[in-house]
Amino acid sequence: MSLLEVRDLKVTYPGGAAAVRGVDLAVAAGEKLGIAGESGCGKSTLALALLRLLPPGARVGGEILLDGEDVLAMKWGRLRAVRWAGASIVFQGAMHSLNAVHRVGDQIAEPIVLHRRATAAGARRRAGELLEQVGLPAARASAYPHELSGGQRQRVMIAMALACDPRLIVADEPTTALDVMIQAQILRLIEGLVGAQDVGLIMISHDLAVLADTCDRLAVMYAGRVVEEGPARQVYDDARHPYGRALSGAFPRIGDPASRFAPRGLPGDPPDPAAVPSGCAFHPRCPVALDLCATEDQLLRPAGPGRRAACVHVGADGTGTPGGNGAAAESEAPDEGAQSADGPDAHGEAAAATGSGARSADGGGVEPGVAAARTGTAAGTGAKGADGGEPAGNGAAVDGGPPGEGAESAGNGAAGMAGGAGASGAGAGRGAADDRAGGTGGATPARDHGVRSSAP
Ligand code: ADP
Ligand code: MG
Repeated sequence: MSLLEVRDLKVTYPGGAAAVRGVDLAVAAGEKLGIAGESGCGKSTLALALLRLLPPGARVGGEILLDGEDVLAMKWGRLRAVRWAGASIVFQGAMHSLNAVHRVGDQIAEPIVLHRRATAAGARRRAGELLEQVGLPAARASAYPHELSGGQRQRVMIAMALACDPRLIVADEPTTALDVMIQAQILRLIEGLVGAQDVGLIMISHDLAVLADTCDRLAVMYAGRVVEEGPARQVYDDARHPYGRALSGAFPRIGDPASRFAPRGLPGDPPDPAAVPSGCAFHPRCPVALDLCATEDQLLRPAGPGRRAACVHVGADGTGTPGGNGAAAESEAPDEGAQSADGPDAHGEAAAATGSGARSADGGGVEPGVAAARTGTAAGTGAKGADGGEPAGNGAAVDGGPPGEGAESAGNGAAGMAGGAGASGAGAGRGAADDRAGGTGGATPARDHGVRSSAP
């Protein structure tokens, strides 16, 4: 049995936004599942739903089985026990997620006291150990959040998520607001901790390259659905769904001349969840849409060993890939890139040497294409950031958090949520700026830089 099994999960916000429209997922212990997709496709809603952190009035359907027990059917007392100890969430925007007026050690200790019934001294000792586990000296426990750097704060958030030895960790854009160098460290840290403790990880990001690098499996979401799923590297290098291809194509591969001179982005905006297009929700933006795509819903179907995709072009044998003009042109380049001497896997070494040069060389060509699409998104959605920033909705989620959520949500839990909101507009802008700044710095760490710094 999987550690987490999500069946036909649906979430509709008050006002009618169908943010999640029937998602099935499974995560085994020790497995790292990445969830990718443009801003607004429902990733955070899915994360919040997993621990029932959605705002009052949100309608949730389906099943969320954590160790076989349905989270959606749990009584509050049981749910409180499961939060932190069964599963915990690391939010983006650590800057805003910690309580500014409490020492970080106390914030880490709080759930340990509440959930583990530890003594204050015992919890403090454990907080020190956790800080060391995430690479900070135990003495930093006495620091206030403003005394720490962004990366250190995110480490504190991770220590907090680990505080009660959860079986599952959900990390929602844990590195989006960090520069690439720190991003790489944090990702390695999460990877290492997950590997060492055999917990399940759900890592959410708009950055497919980050996920391909970190996760075992990858699910690509579009308009509240998973449209493609499979082994991470395969989905990144050779997506079966045209949206997966477009998302992957938006990341220029360093050393790949095709992606350098012919940047690919996806025109248009993701659909408004209050008015999802008929048929396949992606059809208005799809370069290979057929007439029937406007009317026929496309469900996930086998797309090769261990893979599924929701596209009419994926044949019954699972081998078909979206052909035709647009996608064909898009699809060839990444493959070539992957095969070239310094394809994605070799980026590390190449990046150290060429990172900055390659970037400035193709920066002008690449970014505008991607940026154009993104800017459209940002403009279109107002509060939502261009760079995967959290919608203000999450903040609202917290402020109006479920009644009876208890002390823990008033403290760290709520602080965590609020961070999502705090990071919204500003976080998005900052994230983009940081990425770029880090990207042009030649000293960025090799291995991650190559792939990741190309984040839009
Ligand atoms: P992602 O994390 O992929 O960027 P979200 O899950 O945050 O996407 O949002 C999915 C959709 O749900 C968006 O269109 C967003 O505007 C909407 N949404 C998010 N939170 C709320 C809320 N509290 N109330 C109403 N709509 C919301
Ligand atoms: Mg989000």
